[in-house]
Amino acid sequence: MTFNDLGLIEPIKRAVREEAYEIPTPVQERTIPLLLAGRDVLGCAQTGTGKTAAFALPILQMLYNRRRERGTARSLQALILTPTRELAIQIGESFHSYGRYTGLKCVCIFGGVSQNPQTDALGAGVDILVATPGRLLDLIGQGLCDLSTISLFTLDEADRMLDMGFIHDVQKIISKIPTKRQTMLFSATMPQEIATLASSILKSPETVTVTPVSSTVDSIEQSVYFVDKANKILLLIELLCSSAITSALTFSRTKHGANKICKALCDAGIPSGVIHGNKSQSARQAALSDFKEGKTRVLVATDIAARGIDIDRLSHVINFDLPNEPETYVHRIGRTGRAGLSGIAISLCNIDEKAYLRSIERLINKEIPVVEQHPFPMQIFTLSPPEQKQPRNFNPAPLRSGAKSANNRSRHEASFRKNASHKRAARNNPDTDH
Ligand code: AMP
Repeated sequence: MTFNDLGLIEPIKRAVREEAYEIPTPVQERTIPLLLAGRDVLGCAQTGTGKTAAFALPILQMLYNRRRERGTARSLQALILTPTRELAIQIGESFHSYGRYTGLKCVCIFGGVSQNPQTDALGAGVDILVATPGRLLDLIGQGLCDLSTISLFTLDEADRMLDMGFIHDVQKIISKIPTKRQTMLFSATMPQEIATLASSILKSPETVTVTPVSSTVDSIEQSVYFVDKANKILLLIELLCSSAITSALTFSRTKHGANKICKALCDAGIPSGVIHGNKSQSARQAALSDFKEGKTRVLVATDIAARGIDIDRLSHVINFDLPNEPETYVHRIGRTGRAGLSGIAISLCNIDEKAYLRSIERLINKEIPVVEQHPFPMQIFTLSPPEQKQPRNFNPAPLRSGAKSANNRSRHEASFRKNASHKRAARNNPDTDH
């Protein structure tokens, strides 16, 4: 199937050609005709599957046709609700790209920045609004945004709305939208609360399910390095010495940890930026743009800040910390290998994270290959089982001298490398504990 087979009009097909999209992704192939036919859609799809175009192209086409038929003045007709500022900006950029020959106007509103440019833009007339829940409710409360003319409503990343505690805000917003509307709800997972919400806001929806969370990672080359917590930063620097890593989105579990990693990398001469919830909106955007433009090679991020971030040609995702939720691992590594391209994901795993690794492997249903040869092997790799659980006659073999000396050797090599090549980084960042 090609984009010509989807019933799209020329101004949209032209923009899609300019994006160099050759064939529709599965979610686009199935969703676009349903939306163009006026159906409500429940989409089980995550970012990276091409779902933004799956809803944006039909919305643009329906609004374009309406304007041509009725010649009406601009009025706010489509609302896309999404959980984070980054996603809102990204969706806004997608509407801008796909709609560049439609003459339609799209505005993004999100918190953390002055509301004035946003309200000015709303006041000047707009067709499509992309918004995060908090700022939208705020503007509605101030009487600066009116949703009574909305006829196309998209709820994006519904499960994240739930995780981030936005679900009540979302419900309040939905109560302000006319019930006579076309609704599309997208979610990577379908917990009970989202299934209930879906059944209350969608009318006879068609369900489109694409690539369950665990199978989207198939095209991504994954590996794991076992390393002690204190050596993670040294190993990361070592890995980044390879020119194969042209751009690496590096995940930290905490904001504080993200700052420390970024500082250690900068101190080691590796241009890096950081993005997390404590950074101002302008700092986050600057860090993201620097990374996208190749001014920095590494963007260190926490999960919330990186949610949905779309970076073309991202060469690597590095999990500096393994996430405790296995689904988060899948979301993280899905930042690379976008829209069917291959990608590389590297994870650094310390002894305490081995249980997380096992849950991840269970979810993705495969073992992640372990890289054995590296300069900072885990030193504490055998934990004795608790005494009382040992069999009575258990008689542990004495540590063979070869094993002992290999262990000592690797320890020695590690400390040598530490001193020789990463002295500065080690001095500035002696540990990476959070
Ligand atoms: P999304 O899931 O909407 O975040 O899209 C993920 C990435 O896939 C974005 O970089 C899109 O530009 C890209 N993309 C979307 N549709 C296609 C397509 N049909 N062919 C190639 N790339 C696409």
